[in-house]
Amino acid sequence: MVALLLATAPAALPQIDAVYGPLPVFELHSGFWMNLHHRLYEEARQQRSASTAVSTKSERSAKPALQVAPGAKPTLTGPEQRAWDDAVSYYAANYADKDLLFSTELVLLKNQLGDFENCDELSGAKKRTCDAGLPGKLTQILEGAAPVYRAHHWPADDRANRAWIKRVDPLVREQGVGLSHRLADIYQTQWPNEKIRVDVSAVANAAGAYTTLDPLRVTIASTDARNQGTAALEVLFHEASHGIATPVELAIARECRQRDKPIPRDLWHALIFYTTGEVIKPVMDTEGDASDDRVAQSGSEGSNASQGSRGSAPDGDYTPYAKREGLYQRGWENYLQILTRYWQPYLEGRVTFDDAIAHMVSAL
Ligand SMILES: [Zn+2]
Repeated sequence: MVALLLATAPAALPQIDAVYGPLPVFELHSGFWMNLHHRLYEEARQQRSASTAVSTKSERSAKPALQVAPGAKPTLTGPEQRAWDDAVSYYAANYADKDLLFSTELVLLKNQLGDFENCDELSGAKKRTCDAGLPGKLTQILEGAAPVYRAHHWPADDRANRAWIKRVDPLVREQGVGLSHRLADIYQTQWPNEKIRVDVSAVANAAGAYTTLDPLRVTIASTDARNQGTAALEVLFHEASHGIATPVELAIARECRQRDKPIPRDLWHALIFYTTGEVIKPVMDTEGDASDDRVAQSGSEGSNASQGSRGSAPDGDYTPYAKREGLYQRGWENYLQILTRYWQPYLEGRVTFDDAIAHMVSAL
C-alpha cells in the first residue's frame, strides 16, 4: 500500500498523558496505578514462592527489596521500605493466590485502577472524583506504596512502556486497520467499533500478556522478552483476538456436540495463535524491509526502531509467536497438524468456515 511507503516516523515528543496516541484500532496506556498493581502482585508472588520454598520462618531470606533500575536511587529509606513491604505483604495475603485473568476480584480491581490512572490518589481526599471506591485498607496500602514507587521505579517502568509503545507505533499505524479487518473476516465477526484499550505495564502475568472481557481490555508486559521487536504487533493482535474469536469457539463446541465428541479445551486458543501468526507473517516479512528503509532514512530513530526485524530476508523469515515460543511442543502437536491441514485452506480462501471447522473436529 502507498500508506506504507509514505509513513513517517512518529515524533519523539515526551508524553505526559497516560494515553499515547492517537493510533488506529488500539488505545495504548502507560498508567501509574496499573503498573504499581502489577509490580506488587509480581513481588508478592515471588515472596510467596520463596517462603514456601523454605520450611521455617526463621530460615526466610531477607525481606524483598524493591528492585531498582540502573541509574535510579539505589536505596529506600526506612519508612519507604516499610510502606513497600506492607504493600507486598498485603498483596501476598490477599491476591498472590489468585489469577490476574480468572479472578473476578482482580479483574475488577485492574479495570478500576486503569480508570483512575490520571489520579494521584485513590481515596478522593484531595479530589472527590479520585475516589476509586476500593476497600479502605487497599486504598491505604496503594497510597502508601505510591510515593515509593513513584520515586524509585515508576520513571524507569514508564520509560520502558513508552519505548515499547513507540516501537510498535509505526506498525499499528501502517497495518492496524488492515489486520483488524482481516481477522474479523476470518472469525466471521465484527471488530469492535471502539478502540481496544491496551494497558502497557512493565510486568503483567506469567504469560506476559492477558486479556479480560466485558469490557475488552488487554494488558501487555513491556519488559517481557517474548513481547519485543516484531513480536509486539503479533502479541497485540493475538490478545485482541481473545475478544473477537468467540464465533470460532462456539463453532468448535457446536460441531463437537453434533459428533458427540468431547470439546477440546485449547483448540480455539491454538487456532487464534496460529491464525494471528499466519496473518501477521506476510506483513512482517514486508515490514522487515520497510523498517530497514526507515532506519536508513532517519538516524534519530535509535537502535531499537526495528529491533528484531532488521536483517530479515526478502523471502520472509518472520517466525510466529507460538512456533518461536514452542507452544505447539507443549501438548499442542496434534492441534498444529489439524490447523495446518484443515484451517490453513480456509485462511487461503479455498474452503468455507463451516467446512474447515467440521474437518478439524472430525480429525480430532
Ligand atoms: Zn491467548
